[in-house]
Amino acid sequence: MSAVHGDSTRAVHAGQPAPVPGEPFLPGPVFAAPFHLPGDDPGAAPFGYGRAGNPTWSRYESALGELEGGEAVLFASGMAACSALLLRTLRPGDVLVAPADGYGVLRALIADQLEPLGIVPRLVPSDDAAFLDALPGAALVWLESPANPFLTVLDTPRIAAAARDAGALVVVDNTLATPLRRRPLADGADASVMSAAKHLTGHSDLILGHVAVPAGGRIAADALRTARTQIGAIPGPFEAWLAHRSLATLAIRLERQEATADALVAALRARPDVADVRWPGFGSVVCFTLADAEVAQAFLAGARLVLEATSFGGVHTTAERRGRWGMEPVAEGLIRLSTGIEDTADVVADVLAALDGAGKRP
Ligand SMILES: *Cc1c(COP(=O)(O)O)cnc(C)c1O
Repeated sequence: MSAVHGDSTRAVHAGQPAPVPGEPFLPGPVFAAPFHLPGDDPGAAPFGYGRAGNPTWSRYESALGELEGGEAVLFASGMAACSALLLRTLRPGDVLVAPADGYGVLRALIADQLEPLGIVPRLVPSDDAAFLDALPGAALVWLESPANPFLTVLDTPRIAAAARDAGALVVVDNTLATPLRRRPLADGADASVMSAAKHLTGHSDLILGHVAVPAGGRIAADALRTARTQIGAIPGPFEAWLAHRSLATLAIRLERQEATADALVAALRARPDVADVRWPGFGSVVCFTLADAEVAQAFLAGARLVLEATSFGGVHTTAERRGRWGMEPVAEGLIRLSTGIEDTADVVADVLAALDGAGKRP
């Protein structure tokens, strides 16, 4: 695939095998524990045992590599990808700079799994200056941009260049932006990690993750594959196939989600009962704050099209009161909404009607 093609073309064709007469466009998932492996040399066949490799993974990994501009290694979940990457790169005494306000499970992983191994966290607010100040002595800098749930966009190229000068590795969690909106490897990151459960696959029916690294970079794809084989956080072939199938619609899903987010943000900003409306200008996630937890819950209960659920990036419009998790320092009335691919006018009308209803409670 040529780099001059547009996003939709790239998403449709990424990782597709060359046409073979009588074969499907995207061959189905290969289910195997052991593969046939005769003879004395276990390296003689491309696949020997299903924990170490699978052709369905490889095909999807080559699709991801094309979109990310590097080499991708697939994992069982976004957190499996994060864990393998951190365990592979950090050693006791290493300082890990990470966002104080990003994805909460990463902070829990750092506290419960990495600190006991002697890794020293340095948590900073998602802000360019705070990250730049935290660089001296760091071994690895973990960025999330836009960061969840405040949707701050960081100057990734600038932080990556400064981190490189300071001798630190740079990882970007690109779950929210996807490689169609931001390419961390082109921005100078040593690795891009993503959960595929969100925009990337978009159908709310699977959990999967990956790490992408640049060819010849400071983190080797081979080392990550070995970590995957040893830790065993491997994807199922069916999930990998579903994910590859879903990738084809990524660009058109994002276009509709963003058109709806744009219209919704304008409508929300015009209302006096809605505060602090945030949208980074791409992707499906919009955050806004209602009077209190009660009004927020009434809004969610009153909406008909907006499904109450966590997560984001799917074809259905979803929302939740983020404070219900108690994981992030957010206002009690903060709603995180993810626009789906329903008709824009229907979603905006449903949200506005639910806000009107929530405000009218006795
Ligand atoms: C969901 C998410 C993860 C974790 O991914 P899973 O696939 O759920 O393990 C990591 N980072 C961000 C920003 C996420 O939204």
